[in-house]
Amino acid sequence: MTKLADNKPDLRILPPVSDVLATDAAAEIGEAGGQRHLSDLARAAVDSLRSELNSPDGAGMLAFVSREELLEEAVRRLRAAWRADQNAGIRKVINATGVIVHTNLGRAPLSADAVKALAETAAGYCTLEYDIEKGSRGKRGARAEALLAELTGAEAAVIVNNCAAAAFFILTVFAKGGEAIVSRGELVEIGGDFRIPDVLKQSGTKLIEIGTTNRTRISDYENAIGPDTAVLLKVHTSNYKIIGFTEAPPLKALAELADQQGILLYEDAGSGAIADLGAFGLGDEPNIGRSVSDGAHLVSFSGDKLLGGPQAGLIVGKAELIEKLRMHPLYRALRVDKLIYAALEATLDAYRRGSEQSDIPVLKMLSANKEDLEARTAKFVERLAGLNGLKAEISTSEMAVGGGAAPGVNPETPVAVLSHEDLSAVEIEKRLRSTQPAVIARIADDKLLVDLRTVDERDDVLLARALENAMNDVVQV
Ligand SMILES: *Cc1c(COP(=O)(O)O)cnc(C)c1O
Repeated sequence: MTKLADNKPDLRILPPVSDVLATDAAAEIGEAGGQRHLSDLARAAVDSLRSELNSPDGAGMLAFVSREELLEEAVRRLRAAWRADQNAGIRKVINATGVIVHTNLGRAPLSADAVKALAETAAGYCTLEYDIEKGSRGKRGARAEALLAELTGAEAAVIVNNCAAAAFFILTVFAKGGEAIVSRGELVEIGGDFRIPDVLKQSGTKLIEIGTTNRTRISDYENAIGPDTAVLLKVHTSNYKIIGFTEAPPLKALAELADQQGILLYEDAGSGAIADLGAFGLGDEPNIGRSVSDGAHLVSFSGDKLLGGPQAGLIVGKAELIEKLRMHPLYRALRVDKLIYAALEATLDAYRRGSEQSDIPVLKMLSANKEDLEARTAKFVERLAGLNGLKAEISTSEMAVGGGAAPGVNPETPVAVLSHEDLSAVEIEKRLRSTQPAVIARIADDKLLVDLRTVDERDDVLLARALENAMNDVVQV
């Protein structure tokens, strides 16, 4: 191989960055990503080749590659870097996991009306703080709040960024410097970084733990109340369930106690539903209307869990308390934007009309009929028959609501089970992730499970095509 005098490999055959920039791939990337970003990526691609060829292993390669091959490799790296950059952003995926409220995949998909409200109403100028009847300044979020109050039977409502913000907000405004009484069975972590004891600490509230993990009585609350007690905090345990020898006082009893003592009763309901989900086996999920009528003074819940709307922290309760929240300086930092109000209003309108089960994707998926899903899955499996070494059959698995809702509620649900004569489930899963749009599926017992419950029916064809593409890669391997 050619060597320069100082014994360094001769890298003159390495293509200059300008050659990479002159390719069709570069033109495409430059158009989409801008010339400066393209130059950065092209330089990085050539740099990475250079440092590899400069390494002891790479130097040996020089004898066997041509300048054309090196250019091709640089372009391949340029494309890969561009793809990685794109994939790092928000991209459409097909959720074939069967987990309906999938936090990693954006929780609730929005209803068609909510999407329309975003695109046609909120994206441009709109009446965010304008009263069109009076022709003067209006109250931000007024209609969404009124709908929330109406649908839950609460006196008033206020909306913040998410349910974690709602909890922090309420505790800061009403309990800072005082004590919050919480059952040991409810000191939970709700995925990620939301831990009740930490939220209390951040809000400057002292946590008073009472009862035991499995049993807490009303007398435990009574005995813990002292001069510094600011709030009785009831937390929905959301993502786990204590079963067996358990006890917790009903919310009504807590409300009586709180009223008697002049203390705030706040329930963090988390996934909370405003429709009755008993028919789907979710009767244990807190129903916000019931919490309000049982006497909770304030209740907070997420907009993008079982409600099926955009991310938001929804707070309902006594008008005087809501007003206090609204007037607090923190509200300005936690409030939501016009996009959220628009999508939320459209979502809540479906509840008011009584069409939530057909209009709101989360509820539609929850209520999907087993026979219909079976028929759809059978059709999907048929469509895959004959794909390159792929075996597809219909089977049953357990469904999961997800999003920290309804643990232990896992009715049987039909799934397509895929396996391949040459490829592991892990490999198929990886290939599906690299299709456009990416398909996210679940692996169990070295088989790939595709659950159509969480796939929009309009995406069935896209999904089958993605699988075809993934399998066609096999030929090229
Ligand atoms: C999910 C959940 C939260 C956090 O809600 P976000 O809207 O994700 O911030 C808080 N509390 C409970 C009980 C929850 O289930």
